[in-house]
Amino acid sequence: MSKLNGKITVITGGNSGIGFASAKKLKSQGATVIITGRDSDRVQSAAQELGVKGIVADVSRLSAIDDLVAQVKSDFGKVDVLFVNAGIFQPAPIGQINEEIFDNQMDINFKGAVFTTEKFLSILNDGASIINLSSINAYTGMPNTAIYAASKAALNSYTRTAATELAPRKIRINSVNPGPVSTPIFKKTGMAEEQLNGLAETMQNRIPLKRYGQPEDIANLVSFLASDDASFITGSEYNIDGGANINPLVG
Ligand code: NAD
Repeated sequence: MSKLNGKITVITGGNSGIGFASAKKLKSQGATVIITGRDSDRVQSAAQELGVKGIVADVSRLSAIDDLVAQVKSDFGKVDVLFVNAGIFQPAPIGQINEEIFDNQMDINFKGAVFTTEKFLSILNDGASIINLSSINAYTGMPNTAIYAASKAALNSYTRTAATELAPRKIRINSVNPGPVSTPIFKKTGMAEEQLNGLAETMQNRIPLKRYGQPEDIANLVSFLASDDASFITGSEYNIDGGANINPLVG
């Protein structure tokens, strides 16, 4: 299992959930993995558990991304796989969306993601793979997700244009759109346990495969897109959602 042998891989938000599972998977396939996150203790303990390099970098601060790029360059040289995964979810109903909720999600999910790619470009090898972690929310009208969904829709739009412009360097860039995945992201919303359980039950019942995704499900797709098996794929989006996006009216 070494289809990512020798590939230098950076995973933003790699200390938790989907990023953590992806770090484990890509490392098991031979990649040299660097994870990032916001919280120093969490980054260091995850890095230790995974046996990878951990670097603290808040993607909502452009100077922190500059520092991250400089450190990766000095420690590893050039990068082959960039998994732009860091993100937050702050649900709020229309009419109660304040500036903080707007700015937080746009700064991390859209601006942070865009500038991660923008700033890593100078140290990406030609032929590199960029994977943007988006969401099926980009295409749904799920209540309370207006700004989260917009941040992901904007990211997918950037992905398409970037695919065209990066093609001359044979750099591929694709989006992954998961449905609900069991990760700590939901607890971080501050919603009560009971509310979260209710939401989980409702969502699960609407998913044709009748379950949440696991972080490992997403990691499997990320490892494929990172590899040379996906060498003819760019500007694409992959829904990975147990069928949620087909929205069957019955069943
Ligand atoms: P998670 O909360 O377990 O992980 C999020 C990661 O992002 C953490 O490592 C966190 O440290 C990092 N992060 C957050 N803000 C950051 C910042 N400013 N700078 C650097 N790192 C930051 O959640 P997850 O579910 O694994 O989320 C990963 C990605 O998947 C997010 O982009 C999220 O929007 C997306 N997603 C999640 C789901 C889901 O149901 N869990 C569904 C669709 C999309």
